[in-house]
Amino acid sequence: MKKMSIWLNEKDKGYQEIDKNMEVDVLIVGGGITGLSTIFALKDSGLKTILVERNICGCGVTSRSTAKITYLQEKIYMNIRKSSKDEASLYLKSQIEAVNKVKDIVKNYNIECDLKLVSSYLFTNEEKNIRELEEEYDFLKANHVSVEKTKLEGINNILALKVDNTYTFHPLKYINQLKEMMRDNIYENSKVEKIDKIDGYYYSLVNGFVIKSKYVVIATHYPYFLIPFLMPFKTHVETSYIGAKKVREVKDISAINIDSDCISFRYYQNNNSKYLIYLFNSYSSCNIKSIKDNFDELNKLYKFDYTWSNKDIITNDYIPYVGRIYKNDDTLLMGCGYNTWGMTNGVLAGQILSDIILKKDNPYISLYAPHRRINFNKIVRLPIDIGCSMKAIIKSTKGNVNNSKVIYTKRNGKSVAIYKDSNNKEHIVLNRCPHMKCGLVFNEVEMTWDCLCHGSRFTIDGKCIEGPSNFDIAFKA
Ligand SMILES: Cc1cc2nc3c(=O)[nH]c(=O)nc-3n(C[C@H](O)[C@H](O)[C@H](O)COP(=O)(O)OP(=O)(O)OC[C@H]3O[C@@H](n4cnc5c(N)ncnc54)[C@H](O)[C@@H]3O)c2cc1C
Repeated sequence: MKKMSIWLNEKDKGYQEIDKNMEVDVLIVGGGITGLSTIFALKDSGLKTILVERNICGCGVTSRSTAKITYLQEKIYMNIRKSSKDEASLYLKSQIEAVNKVKDIVKNYNIECDLKLVSSYLFTNEEKNIRELEEEYDFLKANHVSVEKTKLEGINNILALKVDNTYTFHPLKYINQLKEMMRDNIYENSKVEKIDKIDGYYYSLVNGFVIKSKYVVIATHYPYFLIPFLMPFKTHVETSYIGAKKVREVKDISAINIDSDCISFRYYQNNNSKYLIYLFNSYSSCNIKSIKDNFDELNKLYKFDYTWSNKDIITNDYIPYVGRIYKNDDTLLMGCGYNTWGMTNGVLAGQILSDIILKKDNPYISLYAPHRRINFNKIVRLPIDIGCSMKAIIKSTKGNVNNSKVIYTKRNGKSVAIYKDSNNKEHIVLNRCPHMKCGLVFNEVEMTWDCLCHGSRFTIDGKCIEGPSNFDIAFKA
């Protein structure tokens, strides 16, 4: 079994790096689906736009997603409806548009990304959830969606909703082809260290060089450059465990439930093989089980060929943060908080962000506005999120109790964490996430150091591979 995402099997080569000072109109930071959709949306604008990615494009959260392109998104409309029916309807409209946008981009630019037309199902196997599913059906009908009540074959369920005209794809193939089309404007292995604003221009430090720009788009998954924005209190991080196993037949469906144990699945076929991609369990940082226990639970279900985990940002009001960070400032923009639905929202973000830069109208700008006021009626999760953050911080300072191969100690007066591999080689890292100084837990399945509080991840020897941290934790004796 490979302990990595099935999508990462694609061979990829790094593009050019930033190796000189530059002056551009728009600097996009981060080469996931958000960043690439934004640069692609700006390609005919006449603005000089570049994208800088600290690793290789697509290798962040995007390449570990299940990559369903659907507007049937677990409990999202139920959650948004609790505070505003109109906002739930607008969110639905935006998602349907985004599904169609991906289809059009793939078709118009002949992108080979295994895009497949599928029916999406939302199902329950718990009596207590039937009423919610019925209400979801009524909501979709009232919004003119062609939806059917049915049952899903091959899995325990008592009721399912089904919609057509949704898709699945290979996220890294999609990203790689957008990247290829924008090749001259993409810089990889180029990390933005710092962004300053002086006299109306941004000066971003990348690989020791300075990029001067009029606009900056932060597409780093977690917008850690923005300390006053208070992300840890407006969001929480959710981790899920995923496996891919070879099957004889693929079905043209994707599905997700609304029950206490989250199940989500789809199929994938490439030239050689057919796979079921199965996600089991999604947990916030409050989860008390160890990473290994979660993987063990997943592996009890099937004999997988690949397993991996992934994290996404869940917003308090279940609407993403896309657009202007400060109300009257079009120059500093962001896109994140997709509540595990970034294939549609990342593409939509590209459209919203480019429309703001190009001063075009877009019907979704206010709904998604990151500067929206905290409306206490809307905050479904604020107390829970603060509680989770506190719990994870406390837990992290005590170390990972379940892992006997990890030692937490001091070296040269610094708190370090040491993992001894099977050859007895010591891998030593600083035991503090540079983001907010939480302690780190060793993920012995994927061989990474993970921050449970806010989702940063590091390689076994301390290179940062996922934010919010922007720095490595390598220990130098
Ligand atoms: C388990 C799971 C399953 C999911 N399944 C689905 C699904 O089926 N359908 C769906 O719609 N969505 C799904 N999602 C959600 C989706 O994968 C994410 O919302 C989306 O990929 C986020 O994209 P992004 O561009 O914001 O982030 P990323 O893909 O992480 O891109 C951010 C990039 O920024 C780079 N970066 C960070 N800091 C810097 C810096 N300082 N300088 C330069 N570059 C930097 C990173 O290296 C990274 O490549 C899932 C999420 C999870 C957790």
